[in-house]
Amino acid sequence: MAVDLILSSPLGPPACEKDAKALQFIEEMTRNADSVQENVLAEILARNAHTEYLNGYKLGGAIDRETFKSKVPVVTYEDLQPLIQRIADGDRSPILSAHPISEFLTSSGTSAGERKLMPTIQEELDRRQLLYSLLMPVMNLYVRELDKGKGLYFLFIKSETKTPGGLVARPVLTSYYKSEQFKRRSYDPYNVYTSPNEAILCPDSFQSMYTQMLCGLYEREQVLRVGAVFASGLIRAIRFLQLNWQQLARDIRTGTLNPKVTDASISECMARILRPDPSLADFICKECGEDNWERIIARIWPNTKYLDVIVTGAMAQYIPTLDYYSGGLPKACTMYASSECYFGLNLNPMSNPSEVSYTIMPNMAYFEFLPNELSSNPTSSSLGSSPPKLVDLADLEIGKEYELVITTYAGLYRYRVGDILRVTGFHNSAPQFYFVRRKNVLLSIDSDKTDEAELQSAVANASQLLREFNTSVVEYTSYADTNSIPGHYVIYWELLAKDSANSPTDHVLRRCCLAMEESLNSVYRQCRVADNSIGPLEIRVVKNGTFEELMDYAISRGASINQYKVPRCVTFTPIMELLDSRVVSTHFSPSLPHWTPERRPTKKSQ
Ligand code: AMP
Repeated sequence: MAVDLILSSPLGPPACEKDAKALQFIEEMTRNADSVQENVLAEILARNAHTEYLNGYKLGGAIDRETFKSKVPVVTYEDLQPLIQRIADGDRSPILSAHPISEFLTSSGTSAGERKLMPTIQEELDRRQLLYSLLMPVMNLYVRELDKGKGLYFLFIKSETKTPGGLVARPVLTSYYKSEQFKRRSYDPYNVYTSPNEAILCPDSFQSMYTQMLCGLYEREQVLRVGAVFASGLIRAIRFLQLNWQQLARDIRTGTLNPKVTDASISECMARILRPDPSLADFICKECGEDNWERIIARIWPNTKYLDVIVTGAMAQYIPTLDYYSGGLPKACTMYASSECYFGLNLNPMSNPSEVSYTIMPNMAYFEFLPNELSSNPTSSSLGSSPPKLVDLADLEIGKEYELVITTYAGLYRYRVGDILRVTGFHNSAPQFYFVRRKNVLLSIDSDKTDEAELQSAVANASQLLREFNTSVVEYTSYADTNSIPGHYVIYWELLAKDSANSPTDHVLRRCCLAMEESLNSVYRQCRVADNSIGPLEIRVVKNGTFEELMDYAISRGASINQYKVPRCVTFTPIMELLDSRVVSTHFSPSLPHWTPERRPTKKSQ
């Protein structure tokens, strides 16, 4: 379906008065990026001047950039961890922020295998809401008449815990969806969801998804856009439809709710929505009953103008699957955000995913940029006492790559986010970035991020089980297989069995799969257990000599023999074909790894 594009100009005529104001705000912020940044930093430093953290760096009440940069070090999460632990344990003194820490946001980035805890303050919710409020005004410049229908968005909350000191710890989106800002949002004809709040806020992921899908099916003709936060979430929703369409159609035929949906507030709100609609039920049975699911999104929701999902960064691997299910509908990546801070938005949201650039909004935090040459220098992992020269937002060079460093209202100062961004241009004087990658991430299927050290230790732990067979893992590599839904980790092992009469059985290798999963970080295990967004880990045992062939292949393509290192993750098709052609056996994890919402105690808090 052709999309109604108005102009390629990001600032064509606004759709309504409210949009005009939002666009005006974007213009003001981006025109004055440097002075907005100066003010943001001054405000953060002035209000937090008496925090324990800033006191320690003896700023003497200074709120200017030069003093800040010369005295305050660039840090990583690990540097702040002891302070964060004190806050989590109940110390209410102003450690990082003068404003009370209202809760912790649990990042999908991990430290020592557990989600990082990001302190936040109440007013950050308003800042997040402000960024959200800019998204539709921009979108309305590119797609007309979004007020004539609704958005089918699959949005979920996740489990939350309390820290020993009683603060809530939960993902940033869970915090946002549970906030008054979201629940009591005022009616906006351009932003009406098919999903009732009751469904979004249901903690049971099956009941939540089921209800959101059911509402989306009832309103199939009204749906103008289909979305989830990340591409993996939308694919999970399609898979859910594949597994549950018969029951969904039954509910629609009879106007009754699947007895598995027991949540009282959902039942109450669905009583107002449910009605018998046999012809809709027939339609769903006909479309979903076909073996071919190509274009299923466009078939079931025929007025969809675009998919609203992030497909940049690690999510780019899902583009072919989304194109298959949607018949190539445009994919809008609207914003770039994290638990630490919401960063910015895409002012050209209908652009091709490979060309997406996010514009940093200078009012969200104080932003600095570490040139990537310094960022990847192994000795600068904690840049401690001698701060390197970081670049300000207004002074970035087009074409160069930088690591993002932020100073937030909630009390992170010169904090390394770990994202590598390339400057593609400027909107007014605010830089625009292509998201290059997250540092050190080897494997990712959903929100999990597994680094090389985690994979290495998972392999080491699992290979203990081979000892009694006098067998060891001589080489390994991995890849994130997203052809299956949900995707799963594949680990290639080359084994050295000293006693071939007693080599490890399938049973043992399956236990090795599970042992690896048990060793992986808590986000991976949560995706496996609670979200069902990652499938069982697979070990593929390859023939002896395979990794030598891999090296020969790399050398034939120009790698240096002296410097050759086995890649711990492969994505290049010929290499994967080579590996797959040498597979002698495959083994899958037989059960789910252990996961509970509670954090595993760290050594310090034990
Ligand atoms: P979390 O802290 O769990 O909220 O994860 C935030 C991280 O997700 C960011 O630092 C990025 O690495 C990634 N991310 C967020 N938004 C985008 C985006 N639009 N494109 C690519 N990666 C993103």
